[in-house]
Amino acid sequence: MSSKQIDPASEVDVLVVGGGPAGCAAATLVAQAGHRVMLLERQETPIFKIGESLIPASFETLDRLGMIDQLRASRFPKKYSVQFFSGSGKASSPFYFHETDPGDRSQTWQVLRSEFDGMLLANAEHHGVDVRRGAAVKEILFDGPAGGRAVGVKASFSGGESRKIKSRVLMDATGQRAMIARQLGIRQHDACLRMAAIFTHFEGAQRDPGIDEGATLILQTEDNRCWFWYIPLPDDRVSVGVVGPIDYLIRDRQGNPQATFDQEVMRCPGLAPRLTTARQSMGVKVLNDFSYTAERAAGDGWVLVGDAFGFLDPIYSSGMLLALKSGELAADATIAALAAEDPSAERLGTFEPTLRAGMASFRQLIYAFYTPDFNFARFLKRFPQHRLAVVDILIGDVFDRDFSALFEDLQTMISSLRPAQPAQAGETITEETTMAVEGAA
Ligand SMILES: Cc1cc2nc3c(=O)[nH]c(=O)nc-3n(C[C@H](O)[C@H](O)[C@H](O)COP(=O)(O)OP(=O)(O)OC[C@H]3O[C@@H](n4cnc5c(N)ncnc54)[C@H](O)[C@@H]3O)c2cc1C
Repeated sequence: MSSKQIDPASEVDVLVVGGGPAGCAAATLVAQAGHRVMLLERQETPIFKIGESLIPASFETLDRLGMIDQLRASRFPKKYSVQFFSGSGKASSPFYFHETDPGDRSQTWQVLRSEFDGMLLANAEHHGVDVRRGAAVKEILFDGPAGGRAVGVKASFSGGESRKIKSRVLMDATGQRAMIARQLGIRQHDACLRMAAIFTHFEGAQRDPGIDEGATLILQTEDNRCWFWYIPLPDDRVSVGVVGPIDYLIRDRQGNPQATFDQEVMRCPGLAPRLTTARQSMGVKVLNDFSYTAERAAGDGWVLVGDAFGFLDPIYSSGMLLALKSGELAADATIAALAAEDPSAERLGTFEPTLRAGMASFRQLIYAFYTPDFNFARFLKRFPQHRLAVVDILIGDVFDRDFSALFEDLQTMISSLRPAQPAQAGETITEETTMAVEGAA
């Protein structure tokens, strides 16, 4: 089946706003079930986006979407492992996914998001979704003044036309723009994770040989205040980004993110030698305060998926898995709600406990990572029985699992989690702060 255009004057079964991994997964699966689905994506063509490293548990959703053959045939580097580097530059042994799961999921991919999102959108069309590119939603329409039932959107299309589109179920997949959560004021920032990231691409950086060529590297800076990601991409490109507290990386650094990035590279003994022969191929970009969750994932006639519901932190590359999986879970709940002719908050929100529990498992390990003096090697030496559970979370096997024994023991070693720079009351932290810095090499 391939896409059929839906008359925008008619009511669509499901209207998806946003064509990233969450929106494409949700739209494709609902369309596969035979419903009339329209997806509105504001970009004419997919553009640069951060979020380039998949984790193994994404396999199931990508398989259900019918994407695996395309990914296997793609030029995306194959990722078999993750490797951690201490602040002194000392490398852990690479953690190979095949050690715990020798099957299909022993390898995943590092993706250029402009191409990956384009593949997902084309695949959605192939499965019958009416994809409208260059269609920006300006307002979510509710049937009451302060929320109520979502009934559609007001959108502007390329060419300047503006119109209302009515829907039985509206799926917000607008990423960090989080249209519904912002409109309803239900977005809650995580006071323990007020982080910033400065990132860019390089060409000609040093890559490891063989099976390690596509590995994600996580490298601490020497004072352990920040960490870098190092993600190999096609065309000899490597994505490099530094993550640390907002105050340290942004507020205290006189507004020059490129200089901050360069200084932190020099403070990262595991990274600096890899970049000596490299050329930075685009200006640095900055994002901050990206960790939040909405108070609820569904209301009457609406559902939140992917970053529009919540985002944790980049450290374990969980974002795209959670986007794909929440799209899948929400699609199944929506299909059931439509079958029952009851797109109420109760029915649409049946997936929320599963999603929240999965996110909570990642969150525990993220808090542990940012706890001063906490060290996973030391923890696993003391509690070796938890190694497999930790590994399961790192590969993304977090849904419908009980990790309470692991978390109880983890708590004994994390006596005092220090919140990282909670914002002052009334303080505004820049939203949607993707900022290209001109003039970088
Ligand atoms: C610093 C950083 C590093 C990260 N690294 C990783 C990583 O290595 N691996 C990983 O898995 N994840 C990573 N992530 C997370 C990842 O980027 C996101 O979780 C993922 O992109 C979420 O997918 P999504 O579909 O929810 O949203 P998005 O991919 O953001 O897609 C949202 C779409 O909605 C569209 N849209 C927005 N507003 C409108 C509108 N009004 N009308 C129409 N369309 C609209 C946008 O154009 C966009 O295409 C990282 C995040 C950060 C902040």
